[in-house]
Amino acid sequence: TNAAAEQELTDGFHLIIDALKLNGLNTIYGVPGIPITDFGRMAQAEGIRVLSFRHEQAAGYAASIAGYLTKKPGVCLTVSAPGFLNGLTALAHATTNCFPMILISGSSEREIVDLQQGDYEEMDQLAIAKPLCKAAFRVLHAADIGIGLARAIRAAVSGRPGGVYLDLPAKLFGQVMNADAGKKSLVKVIDAAPAQIPAPDSIKRALDVLKSAKKPLIILGKGAAYAQADDAVKALVETSGIPFLPMSMAKGLLPDTHPQCAGAARSTVLKDSDVVMLIGARLNWLLSHGKGKSWGDAPKKFIQIDIEPKEMDSNVEIVAPVVGDIGSCVAALLDGMGKGWQKAPVDWANAVTKKREENVAKMAPRLMNNNSPMDYHGALGVLRTIIAERPDAMLVNEGANTLDLARGIVDMYQPRKRIDVGTWGIMGIGMGYCIAAAVETGKPVLAIEGDSAFGFSGMEVETICRYNLPVCIVVFNNDGIYRGTDVNPTGGSDVAPTVFVKGSRYDKMMEAFGGVGTNATSPDELKRAVNAAMDSGKPTLINAVIDPAAGSESGRIGNLNPQSVLSKK
Ligand code: ADP
Ligand code: MG
Repeated sequence: TNAAAEQELTDGFHLIIDALKLNGLNTIYGVPGIPITDFGRMAQAEGIRVLSFRHEQAAGYAASIAGYLTKKPGVCLTVSAPGFLNGLTALAHATTNCFPMILISGSSEREIVDLQQGDYEEMDQLAIAKPLCKAAFRVLHAADIGIGLARAIRAAVSGRPGGVYLDLPAKLFGQVMNADAGKKSLVKVIDAAPAQIPAPDSIKRALDVLKSAKKPLIILGKGAAYAQADDAVKALVETSGIPFLPMSMAKGLLPDTHPQCAGAARSTVLKDSDVVMLIGARLNWLLSHGKGKSWGDAPKKFIQIDIEPKEMDSNVEIVAPVVGDIGSCVAALLDGMGKGWQKAPVDWANAVTKKREENVAKMAPRLMNNNSPMDYHGALGVLRTIIAERPDAMLVNEGANTLDLARGIVDMYQPRKRIDVGTWGIMGIGMGYCIAAAVETGKPVLAIEGDSAFGFSGMEVETICRYNLPVCIVVFNNDGIYRGTDVNPTGGSDVAPTVFVKGSRYDKMMEAFGGVGTNATSPDELKRAVNAAMDSGKPTLINAVIDPAAGSESGRIGNLNPQSVLSKK
């Protein structure tokens, strides 16, 4: 009867769950605790996949990369104050990397927090989150949950994607309201990330600049990979005949083995190109800000395709800004090029190919050594072959030398398969990324981890075992940070700050939770162990013993270390 329907109640718990499900947000990465423990249980009971981690930062990194892989905001759920702060690192990371993510944290009672009366885990979380994310919202009334989540979703995925904080005070969860009114208050977000069509003038300007180029270059960034406009990007590259350079996470958008790929001729193309078209890549530190030695003396003109208008001229002048979403922009460029487009000059294309082939040939023998203990090249040579044979596997990569060398050595063949330290070049994304990669794609995951990098999220191997995920972690164990050979100059009993316990066996950590652990001391052993793991799909950790003297300070970015004049005396 109507009277009965009027009396049927819902509450904050269920409205949040219903709002998430209504918007296709079916996975939550988080850590339970007050005040969100029951919420997690109920979400699971209502069919949401609730994955519990051992630390919020790893859960947050998982949510951030889930956002990158799916174009839907990844959801991370934490408790108040410390849990929130742990998740906040990942939210800031998502924002910096332009990944859509929503951090939902429970919080203490407003009345007590605002009067600073010392509540359990008291903290003004909304205020703290604001400068570190794209948008932050708080919901105080159950009737506003639908609108609150809708705003969070739109803020996360529209325009330049980023992290959104959603503050849910403990009291909200238990608030009741009429079930029917509750249902009506929910919002299914329509067209959350609307196409952003570029201005026709900007397309014409970009094509005019391209036409004038003698030595054009396309740089593909992770924005281009994120956009999932794979066919259009491929068509643009191939129709234009322009050599392309993939940024780290754009590797595989077109195969690294594509005849136009200039990955192995990076320094040459940066120096010698005259027109550079950036597609979803920023001219930040990773591209030396578009100036200086690595860009050579020849004058450059930059064309930039980006969804964020404020990105233009951030480091150098952009002569042809094209603002819009990459799918629409690239389609418009292709349209403007028409049938008779003159391909990039052959002598330039040939020069790039020649350089690339020389560099590849130089590297090849180093990748085939079977040294024990292993060096980076021997170990990565094996992993390179494994990815070539299993191109649909997800690759997670973090470390210093382990990152820089793997990025250069391991070719990628399919879009969005390589996920790594991103814009900040941070350590700690490893296990969270492995978990989300396995959960979101259903593909086997290979993680190439420096021993130091692994340590930041290592406890999540328990999570990987608990959910029985097809993740194979290879820890490049060289006994320390950068190298394992530093000594304490005072002769004191403390080891040097960059050195770990020698001969550690990270594989035993995996065994502790029922996964497979293997110790590999040669490339042959490593190859057998990784192939077995990828075939079995069992959680596996391989302790790959690397020569402690291999590796260089800070990998390829040692130049960023400040130098003391005094220590050089
Ligand atoms: P990389 O580190 O690979 O060079 P960045 O993270 O620096 O990539 O740059 C990615 C850029 O892509 C950002 O400036 C972001 O605004 C842009 N971007 C992200 N998604 C889209 C999209 N769908 N359309 C256009 N630009 C996008
Ligand atoms: Mg190391």
